Order: sequence, then C-alpha cells, then structure tokens
Amino acid sequence: MIQPFKYCPYCSGSIEYKHIPDDTQLRHVCTQCKSIHYLNPKIVTGVLPIYKEKVLLARRAIDPCKGLWNVPAGYMENGETIEDGAQRELWEEAFAKVENIRPHLIYSIEQINQVYVLFLGDLLGPEFSIGIESLEVKLFSEAEIPWSEIAFTSTAVCIKRYFKHRSTAPTKVFVEKYQSDKKL
Ligand SMILES: [Zn+2]
Repeated sequence: MIQPFKYCPYCSGSIEYKHIPDDTQLRHVCTQCKSIHYLNPKIVTGVLPIYKEKVLLARRAIDPCKGLWNVPAGYMENGETIEDGAQRELWEEAFAKVENIRPHLIYSIEQINQVYVLFLGDLLGPEFSIGIESLEVKLFSEAEIPWSEIAFTSTAVCIKRYFKHRSTAPTKVFVEKYQSDKKL
C-alpha cells in the first residue's frame, strides 16, 4: 500500500495506516490531530459528440498519450454536476456544445482508482475548433476512426459501443471495467 502522503496536511503529524472502529477498510489516520484521510477513486467525465452519423474526437496536445485521439473528457471538478463537467471538458478541448446529453458508458479502472462516466450528446452544429489541450479536432465516420491512434481503452470502448448499438432504442447504458486482453 502506497502512503498518499507522509505527513498530515492539516497539522504535519505523521500518518498511520490503520483500522478504525466501525469501518471495514484500513484508513490513513493522523497520529496527532486524529484526522482520517479518506482516499477514494477519481471520476473522469466526458461526452462523445455526435453529428450526422459522425463522432467528434480531439487529438491530445498533452501527456499522457500526447498526439493520440480521444473522446473529450477529464477530471470532474468540485461544485459541478457530472453532465456540466462533461460539457466543460468538451468546451475546453474542442469549443463545441451538445444537447440531449445522455449516459452511455460507466467504465471502472480499479488498477488506477478511476471511474469514467461517458455520455453521448448531439452536436448543436458543425461548429468546433481546437481547444487549448488539443492539437486537432475532427468528425469521424465509423470507417474513418483511427483505431491504432486512439489514446485510451475507455475511449475505444466508448466509440465501439456507440457505433455498434446506435440504432438501439431506448439507448443502452454499458457498465464495464478495464480488461487488458478484452476483445472490444
Ligand atoms: Zn493531523
């Protein structure tokens, strides 16, 4: 178990990883001020924008996976809803807006303590441009998706599930987890 920090951020006391009453998990507890520092998964939120049978992807200008294509997504911020977070990320990466935002994929990556919540949304029009975290932003048909240049497995699963099930009504929500050898 990796210690999240050596000293308590509140009082600089040393941290102990221990059992506390009425809890099933071990926790990081300050030996001095007794604060319990809970460590929980991070939520990544994003939206796959759809426009006339095509999807909008952004090529990453930042690491990890700089230069590869991704569904506009990023860490959810405090004080926003998960849908607003997805819209914010889309605006930051592609200066685009969607309507009719709906759940599509909940994807757990236990190995790195992250949960991806990815939505589908209808692009308001073919209006988008390169955001600060992107090198390029482009609409792709299913045949045009550059599969060998997709940034993350979550992105590949998101796109594949969309194209395979797009005619299904009502929209199916997929709940999956990362598997390195999984056939998508
Ligand atoms: Zn403390």
